[in-house]
Amino acid sequence: MGRIYLDYAATTPTHPEVVKTMLPYFTEAFGNPSSIHSYGQEAKGAVGEARVKVANLIGARNEEIVFTSGGTEADNFAIKGVAFANESKGNHIITSSIEHHAVIETCKFLERRGFRVTYLPVDRYGLVDPDDVKEALTDKTILISIMHANNEMGTIEPIAEMDGIARETGVYFHTDAVQTVGHIPVDVNKLGVDLLSMSAHKLYGPKGVGALYIRKGTKLTSFMHGGEQERRRRASTENVPAIVGFGRAAELAQQEMSEEAERLTCLRDQLIKGLLEQIDHSHLNGHPVTRLPNNVNISVDFVEGESMILNLDLEGVCASTGSACSSSSLEPSHMLLAMGLSHEQAHGSLRFSLGKWTTEKDIERVLDVLPSIIAKLRAMSPLLKSQG
Ligand code: PLP
Repeated sequence: MGRIYLDYAATTPTHPEVVKTMLPYFTEAFGNPSSIHSYGQEAKGAVGEARVKVANLIGARNEEIVFTSGGTEADNFAIKGVAFANESKGNHIITSSIEHHAVIETCKFLERRGFRVTYLPVDRYGLVDPDDVKEALTDKTILISIMHANNEMGTIEPIAEMDGIARETGVYFHTDAVQTVGHIPVDVNKLGVDLLSMSAHKLYGPKGVGALYIRKGTKLTSFMHGGEQERRRRASTENVPAIVGFGRAAELAQQEMSEEAERLTCLRDQLIKGLLEQIDHSHLNGHPVTRLPNNVNISVDFVEGESMILNLDLEGVCASTGSACSSSSLEPSHMLLAMGLSHEQAHGSLRFSLGKWTTEKDIERVLDVLPSIIAKLRAMSPLLKSQG
């Protein structure tokens, strides 16, 4: 029995085509893009080509793309960069309560340094209300940071609507688009954003590389000081093979996205329908329609997410739970709690994220094994006994 990988939102395998494109940049074309000899110029050219491909994927200009070490760095750069560059204008930031830790922890860091942060609530589908954004604005607001789609329950936020509000008031708008770029159409001009974070390993590129889109004219401070790479916005020798891989992944995503999104939406809906039909006391988390094509997140009453994951793993199915493991305790997902789920429901959540190599057979396998796993766990469950 082969293993079935259904955790593409955590990371994707690097596409074999991407690996093939990267390989020469480790050995033959290994130059430093800052060197003026031919090796250097070859590497510089490759980084430039990758920049064009990433820019094309999101409708940006080449010079608006800064390569980073991933989505986390892009989020840190956007938020700290705007905060420190615009301190004289104000110290207030608006974000949501369902952001990735890369945004939440950066905001908390800034709070410890005198900034004020509003964490907006979400409705039961995980949607931020644009009216709440409007109401939270003050004359000290310098940045709004709301994610494009949530990594746990897949809800896609109405970014373009919120950005209109930012534009009217001259406040910068950042979106963490790590889960959407390469999966659904992302156009920085249609969204209207000033800053947008991306990560290659979520779209079949390598790990440890990402990018921040910075709209021309956006005032932000760099926090990597050193050489003059990335037009002095991010010092350090470019990770050439990874950047080249990111470019190739972006190119492939652009070619395959619409067909793949349609295929995954069918598989996603088949899995959601099957799970809700076959498992009593199960609930879909996130928006039923406005959600990522590859995301299925359900809560199952009276069972622990971790137990389901471990039992699924024994059956060769790799998924994830909404609960993030912290070193000493199992904390329920802050995103699911923010949507109004109880601690028990958040603990009993499961996320399946589908991808390029997911087949209908994989979905059938999950539907075949999960109901009996749940029945077995419920039979032993103190949570169920305490109900009855
Ligand atoms: N933002 C979101 C929404 C994510 O899902 C992730 C990764 O899980 C990140 C940021 C962090 O990206 P990276 O792993 O490239 O640092």
